[in-house]
Amino acid sequence: MNYYVMTLFPEMIDSTLSHSITGRALEKGQIQLNSVDIRDYAQNKSRHVDDYIYGGGSGMLMQIEPVWLCYKDIMSGLPKENTRVLYMSPQGKTFNQEMAKELSQSENLVFLCGHYEGIDERAIELINPEMVSIGDFVLTGGELPAIMMIDAITRLIPGVLGSDDSAIYETFYEDLLECPQYTRPPEYEGLKVPEILLSGNHKLIEEWRREQAIKRTKELRPDMYQRFLTHNNIYDKIDDVVNDKNER
Ligand code: SAM
Repeated sequence: MNYYVMTLFPEMIDSTLSHSITGRALEKGQIQLNSVDIRDYAQNKSRHVDDYIYGGGSGMLMQIEPVWLCYKDIMSGLPKENTRVLYMSPQGKTFNQEMAKELSQSENLVFLCGHYEGIDERAIELINPEMVSIGDFVLTGGELPAIMMIDAITRLIPGVLGSDDSAIYETFYEDLLECPQYTRPPEYEGLKVPEILLSGNHKLIEEWRREQAIKRTKELRPDMYQRFLTHNNIYDKIDDVVNDKNER
C-alpha cells in the first residue's frame, strides 16, 4: 500500500505514523508513506499558499494553484486504476470500518488535507476526490483525519498485525462490539476473571465470547445490534439465547 498525503504539515503525518503498528509496517515495507508539502508548489518567494476569501468572511482559504500542481505531480507517477483520492472534509461521507476495509484493498491512496477555512472549491472540482469526514465536528486541518484513516486502514492489510485474527475479531467485525477481555492477574481487588476463560475449553470460550459480544452490542450500540440481527437473519433466536443465559 502506498499512501500519499498532500499537506501543509508533512512532519505531523510522518512523526505520528512512525510509531507502533504503522511504524513497524513502514519499517517492514508493508506500507509506504509519502507526505508531500503543498507549500513546495507555491509559485511565490514567501511560499504562501492561502489568501482571503472572495465575498468576505473570516479566515483564509488554500489557493487552487499549489494544490492542483501538487496533485498533478503525485498523479503523474501513479496509475489511474487502483488509486483513490480522498479529500478530508467535514462535508464528506463518514469514515467507518467498512470503508477502511474497502480502502485497504487499494494500491495507492492519496489524501488531500485542507487547512485554514478549507480549499478553493475549483481545486476540488478539478481533482474530483471522494470526500471523507471522520465525524460531525470541525477540526483545524485534515492531517488528523488522514492519520486516523491511515492507521485504521493499515491494520487491515494482511500481515500487518501479528495475527490476522486480531483484526477479524475486533469491534465492528460482523456488526458486533468486541467481548470484554482480561489479562493477568486472575484476581485483583476482589474482581475475578470469568472462570470460563481459565478453563482451557476453547469451544466454550468461543461461545462465551460471542454471547458477551452480542450482549455488549445490544446494551451499548442498539443501532449496530439491529444491523447484526438483520444481516444474520436470526432475529429473536440470538435475543433469546442472550436473555436465557442472563436469566439463568
Ligand atoms: N470551512 C470548512 C467547513 O465549514 O466545511 C471547514 C474547514 S476546516 C477548519 C479545515 C480543514 O480541516 C478542512 O478543509 C478539512 O480538510 C479538515 N477537516 C475538518 N474537520 C474535518 C472532519 N470532521 N473530517 C475530515 N476532515 C476535516
